[in-house]
Amino acid sequence: MPPETRPAVAVDQARLWERHLEMARIGGTPRGGVNRQALTPEDAQARALLARWGAALGLDASLDPIGNLFLRRPGQDASAPPVLTGSHLDTQPSGGRFDGTYGVLAGLEAIEAIGRVGIETRRPLELVVWTNEEGCRFAPGCMGSRAFAEPGLLDRLLAARDLDGIRVAEALHEVRTALPSTVAPCGLGGPVAAYVEAHIEQGPELEAAGRVIGLVTGIQGRRRILIEVHGEDGHAGTLPRRRRKDALSAAVAMIQALEVLMHDPGDTVRFTVGRVVVSPNAPSVVPGHVLFTIDLRHPEGGTLMRLGDAVETVCRRHVGPCTVSVTDVSLTMPIRFEGLVPDTVRTVSESLGLPSMPIASGAGHDAENLHRVCPTGMLFVPCEGGISHNEAESAKPEDLAAGAQVLARVLVELAGPAGGRRG
Ligand SMILES: [Zn+2]
Repeated sequence: MPPETRPAVAVDQARLWERHLEMARIGGTPRGGVNRQALTPEDAQARALLARWGAALGLDASLDPIGNLFLRRPGQDASAPPVLTGSHLDTQPSGGRFDGTYGVLAGLEAIEAIGRVGIETRRPLELVVWTNEEGCRFAPGCMGSRAFAEPGLLDRLLAARDLDGIRVAEALHEVRTALPSTVAPCGLGGPVAAYVEAHIEQGPELEAAGRVIGLVTGIQGRRRILIEVHGEDGHAGTLPRRRRKDALSAAVAMIQALEVLMHDPGDTVRFTVGRVVVSPNAPSVVPGHVLFTIDLRHPEGGTLMRLGDAVETVCRRHVGPCTVSVTDVSLTMPIRFEGLVPDTVRTVSESLGLPSMPIASGAGHDAENLHRVCPTGMLFVPCEGGISHNEAESAKPEDLAAGAQVLARVLVELAGPAGGRRG
């Protein structure tokens, strides 16, 4: 057997699957999904379980100031920057068992497989769990990797609050106390040799094409915009229409006009109004205040900017007797994965004989932040029916194992195989 295929062979499909099921019990919902939002007791418990699995493999755990968790396998050259792999363990409130968790557990499985066949690498390997990827409890999402890539943002991110007013800095306490056995805390943004992230596709293309490995070409850009419409509360029975300042009527007109603006015959534009908050939200009160969010995504930066920039004009045109404020919450430009990491993922997939295809990511991932600090790439595995951010999310054990096989060998390639047996 050629030495470079050995870690792939040592990947244990049953172990990988069992760990997914065990992890899914933390925050498990009655309908078979997972609710494990960032920096909750469940999130802390999930990290603690992972750290225990890592400790059994001799991996040392450390936390950085935003709570990113690193499990380190030493390399021959202790001073060499590590190769990182991982993803996130937090979920949406009605999340599934595989989004994020797969990238973490595939990384653990890959590192375990590399150890089982006695391969030592020149560079250290680190399994990372990024804090708050989902961004549902605390905004913005991909918070941990964002702070890692741009440490100057740390204070602002630590001050972000959830809907109960709890700050990230306070919630981090849960995670720190759940992981008493961490080694000295590490800093943000240390030098990294390369980053590779495995993830379920969260879309239907791989399954439809009968391919097992998605060679991720890039991540589309996205903009979050917050719109607030200010009107005036009034009595539903006594206030004539001509005197109303109905914030909801104005918001509905705005959303309808935005749908027209975003209409795309090619179906590439992704436009979503996912949150509408109506105040006072009472049946007999003319709504005086409405807040709604826009999530806009496109693979081309120019189109993303043009459409996003037009939002304010459209909203003002339909404001009626109310007033409106439009705030850009976040902007992530589209990125392309090129060079070392995607090339390695492709050649490894081919040499293992796994059917693969290039694929663009519609969802955001922590890899988009790592892309700014080191050579970065991703690989996807299929998920059933393309269903994700849903309690029904599922995947096949053999596909998950195939992705871990690719990952194991990619890690060895990136970390520099020393070839010697350990111990
Ligand atoms: Zn994810």
